[in-house]
Amino acid sequence: MPASRAERRKFRQTVRMIAFLPLNLATIRRARGSGWLVCQHCGEHALQEVVDVMTFVRLFFYRLGVVRRERQLVCQRCGNRRRASRTEREALRTPNGSIHRAFLAPIGFIALVALAAAGTALFAGIGRTAAAPSQEWVTANGSPIGAPLSFAAPVGWNNTVVNSSSTGARAISISQETASGFLGYTVVREPSINSLATLLTVHVSDQFSIQTEGYPTVPPAASCITVAGVPAAVASFNFQNATQPSRIEMVAFVHQNVGYVVTFEANQQAEIAMLPALSQHVLTSIRFAGSDTASSAPAATASSSYTVSCVTGSSSPIERAT
Ligand SMILES: [Zn+2]
Repeated sequence: MPASRAERRKFRQTVRMIAFLPLNLATIRRARGSGWLVCQHCGEHALQEVVDVMTFVRLFFYRLGVVRRERQLVCQRCGNRRRASRTEREALRTPNGSIHRAFLAPIGFIALVALAAAGTALFAGIGRTAAAPSQEWVTANGSPIGAPLSFAAPVGWNNTVVNSSSTGARAISISQETASGFLGYTVVREPSINSLATLLTVHVSDQFSIQTEGYPTVPPAASCITVAGVPAAVASFNFQNATQPSRIEMVAFVHQNVGYVVTFEANQQAEIAMLPALSQHVLTSIRFAGSDTASSAPAATASSSYTVSCVTGSSSPIERAT
């Protein structure tokens, strides 16, 4: 990647020179948003516009791939334009979450890869899918927490048995720390709670910490889905955890008078974007593998105004308002 001013000028000249050849280069600039930062040039805490500069290899006007990309900051006070360093991108304070790692999609290239993959699949003439699965899964067993069920777990993720902090109930925690954040889910068995509203109320408060901001005091209105043939209630919400954008999708259901809560949690935007696919895959994989034994005296329903009404057969899609 060209670094110095002279090198950059030379790069731009090269781009212009070959812009009209069938196989050519083109540069585009895209404003991604803005945030507040102390400007290295004028020294003021000023609004910085974030601009992505991308150079594509093109066949005529068809973008084949990105050869150069750079995230720049343009100071709205002094006009200074510079390459955004990693620390600057991370220090940038934006109103709607982080933009320092936005995905720069080389759209034409993706289309070309898809075409090539489809072509290859046709040529191979076998029933394999064109796209390789990005994630391998295994079937996890609920027996470590006394739960007669099974569910899918991504290969290579941490798999531990923990205790729920509010109720002490046993939980299986499946998670991975990613380069930027966190993605994971826990499966809790609650032998003494058989109300969807109570399960959500208790476990939403379970996740609250002094590091969270914008965290709900009561669960948001639940939507209804079906998990392993039983009605399930889903409550989803966004919040900040230690200033990082975070999201929880909590799913409660009752099987043979025993409550279950599956809590999906993502930390950072890239992980939040992966959360719907994760929850979709895990929830559709849940199977009951035997009969359950409820505690002899289920706890009374929480005396709260929060109510949930989900019945068998409801199949509305998971609500994922952001
Ligand atoms: Zn400035």
